[in-house]
Amino acid sequence: MTAPTALLWCRRDLRLADNPALMWALAQQRTVIPVYIHSGAEDYHDTPGAASRWWLHHSLMALDEDLRRLGSRLQVVEGPAEERLPALARHLKASMVTWNRLYEPALAERDAAVEAALVRQGVTVSHHPGALLAEPTALHTAGGGPYRVYTPYWKAHRRTVGQPAPLAAPTALPPPPDLPDAIPVEHLGLLPAVPWYGGLADRWKPGERGAHEALAAFDGGAVSRYGEDRDRPDRIGTSRLSPHLHFGEITPGQVALAVQGAAGNDADPFLRQLVWRDFAHHLLHHFPHTVTEPFNPRFAAFPWRRDPGTDLTRWQQGRTGIPLVDAGMRELWHNGWMHNRVRMAVASLLTKNLLIHWRAGEAWFRDTLVDADVANNVMGWQWTAGCGADAAPYFRIFNPVRQGQRFDPEGAYVRRWVPELGGLPDRYIHCPWEAPAAVLQEAGITLGRDYPEPMVDLKATRERALAAYGEVKGGA
Ligand SMILES: Cc1cc2nc3c(=O)[nH]c(=O)nc-3n(C[C@H](O)[C@H](O)[C@H](O)COP(=O)(O)OP(=O)(O)OC[C@H]3O[C@@H](n4cnc5c(N)ncnc54)[C@H](O)[C@@H]3O)c2cc1C
Repeated sequence: MTAPTALLWCRRDLRLADNPALMWALAQQRTVIPVYIHSGAEDYHDTPGAASRWWLHHSLMALDEDLRRLGSRLQVVEGPAEERLPALARHLKASMVTWNRLYEPALAERDAAVEAALVRQGVTVSHHPGALLAEPTALHTAGGGPYRVYTPYWKAHRRTVGQPAPLAAPTALPPPPDLPDAIPVEHLGLLPAVPWYGGLADRWKPGERGAHEALAAFDGGAVSRYGEDRDRPDRIGTSRLSPHLHFGEITPGQVALAVQGAAGNDADPFLRQLVWRDFAHHLLHHFPHTVTEPFNPRFAAFPWRRDPGTDLTRWQQGRTGIPLVDAGMRELWHNGWMHNRVRMAVASLLTKNLLIHWRAGEAWFRDTLVDADVANNVMGWQWTAGCGADAAPYFRIFNPVRQGQRFDPEGAYVRRWVPELGGLPDRYIHCPWEAPAAVLQEAGITLGRDYPEPMVDLKATRERALAAYGEVKGGA
């Protein structure tokens, strides 16, 4: 007689350690069958970005390798989970199905439908938290409603959210039977036909081991300096854990414990930033319309430019003529990642100086970021555009020249990504248009030929944005 079977539905929890669904399945003394069901639904808005697909391919391969070391393996099937999971459970006579929860509104709805179908079949379903430090419904204001402002959310989080010890990884797993229609990861076609991803492959190591290496590199030193360095794109001052966290290769609980162990109270500025991730999920859960609509309804009438011509393309390609912005957009294209301070500066230029809809920027980030994440991306864009919860006030328009001078004072970041400006002295590296002709000549630069003239007058477009924001500011 074969052992009773539990299906472990792997989603964005591509790890063995601190995996509550996996440990639950093992505790039931079942044959555990890890399965990944590819339908695109787990991806951002069902339309996964190219960089995310690259990451997913490698993360699935890494999980399979890790499972095989313990005696199991990852089996991949295609199709909508609503159909495939109940059919698999029937075929395998699985009496239990388990997974770790995801929180985007569309996925929560899909998962509820899957659960109902399984329960109708008499299958026991068990799902677990694991992606966040606090579930989106865990915290509420004194009035019982959701938080809309970050600082009180963070304080409540600090006060009330405990940190259970992360679960150890299993040391051995039962060999699973073959699934019908299982296909190799390579057959999912996640990698692009034209291999443009050399920069990603050089920079990142997807998978659980890569995640822990990134954490070790960070808590080995940078975490104690995070308070001072986190805004400096010219330094490695942040953890760069975002894609690993997004794909669940490591949990925020593991990260929080490690940084506290390494830096004690000096880890606080980092933890405050990590909890923004929980806040983003809290907002999305309580205000699901914000996936596509502004949190602040007055912004529905905001006069975004209808026909931005080639301006969007110039921004995407890092040819705006504004060095900090171009450096960020080129870093994004090359590495699939951009520093948070620079994300704010490029998003401000797009939405405020260029008056291009935040959704166009959000879509570009979705396609190009390895950490593209509905909750964080939507919150980041709406925050910068001024239409989100706890948003930057509408009159706060980032000046990318001053941002550069403050946070990249010697221009090392700009020189790295915009090498054609490398010969400029620090004083003009963030504003080449202000450099005297002799300085430009000495640096071998002709503006408009070697590097673009700035595509906007920052002062005049700031005034234009303030006027546009004035139209909706009553609620901003
Ligand atoms: C316009 C815009 C779009 C963004 N889009 C995304 C996105 O798609 N995916 C994404 O993960 N982050 C996004 N962010 C947030 C932030 O820029 C990244 O999380 C951060 O830069 C990742 O680098 P890190 O891992 O080194 O961060 P660290 O500074 O080391 O922070 C650790 C972790 O905390 C979380 N975190 C930190 N800052 C934020 C924040 N402001 N909001 C939410 N979570 C945060 C991330 O999970 C991050 O990995 C966006 C920010 C802006 C302004």
